[in-house]
Amino acid sequence: MFLSITCALCMKIDILTIFPRMFVGPFAESLIGRASQKKILNIDIINIRSFSKDKHKKVDDKPFGGGVGMVMKLEPLYYALRSVGGVRRKRNSYKKNSIYRRPYIVYMSPQGKTLDNEIVKSFTKFRHLIIICGHYEGVDERVMNYVDEEISIGDYVLTGGEIPAMVLTDAIVRMLPGVVKERDSIKNDSFYDGLLDYPHYTRPAVFRGQKVPEILLSGNHRKIDEWCAKEAYKRTKERRPDLLKK
Ligand code: SAM
Repeated sequence: MFLSITCALCMKIDILTIFPRMFVGPFAESLIGRASQKKILNIDIINIRSFSKDKHKKVDDKPFGGGVGMVMKLEPLYYALRSVGGVRRKRNSYKKNSIYRRPYIVYMSPQGKTLDNEIVKSFTKFRHLIIICGHYEGVDERVMNYVDEEISIGDYVLTGGEIPAMVLTDAIVRMLPGVVKERDSIKNDSFYDGLLDYPHYTRPAVFRGQKVPEILLSGNHRKIDEWCAKEAYKRTKERRPDLLKK
C-alpha cells in the first residue's frame, strides 16, 4: 500500500495500479485531499507489483497466440484484489445493504460504458469501490470474472488506467455530501439536471469595456434565478441539444 488515507464510516476506494506514485499529487490536493482530511473518504492506492510472485516483480507477459504488446498478468491482479476483499468466496457472502456489503469492482477500460453524471451518481451509493487500472494491451481477460463493470472515460485510448481512475474518483468525491461546501453548486452543475450550467461572472463588473450582465448586479434574486435558468436552457440548446431530447 503506497498511500493510505483512512477513516471509519466513509466511502472507501481502493485503486489497484502499477504506478502508485502517479496518484500522490492529484490526491493530496484539491477536493480529494479535503474529503480525506474531513474523513468523508478513505483511499488506498495498492501497488499491484508488490503482489507479483516473480523474482523480478513482473506484472506483464507476452500474449498467448502471439501478437504485439504485453498483457497484464492475472495472478498479481488476483492477489491484489484479494488483499482488499475483492475476491468473493461465495456470492452474497457479504451482508446486503450494510456497510459490509461486498465491494463493487470497476475496471477502467476504453471498451466500457462511457462515464456520465448518472453513472457517477449511482457510484456514490457504494460503501466500497475497487478500481483496477490497466496497462499495456490491457489485462488478462480472466480478470473480468471478478469485475462488476468496465468504465471508459471516452472514445480514445490512453496509456494506462490511472488518469481514468483519477477522473472517476474525482467525479464521485465531488458528489459526496460534505465535500463541496455549497451543496447547491453541485445541483447547478452541468448535467446534474440534464442541462449545462449557466455562465458565471465575478469582479470587476467592467473590464476593458466588457460588462457583466446588468441583471446580476441588480440584487433581485428572483430575477437572477430566472436569468440563470434561461441561460442554462439557452446554452444547452445551442451546445448540447441532445441533452434536451433526453
Ligand atoms: N488494447 C486496449 C484496447 O484497445 O481496448 C487498450 C489498452 S490501453 C493502452 C491500457 C489501459 O489504459 C487499459 O487497460 C485501460 O485500463 C486504460 N485506458 C485506456 N484508455 C482508456 C479509456 N478511454 N477509458 C478508461 N480506461 C482507459
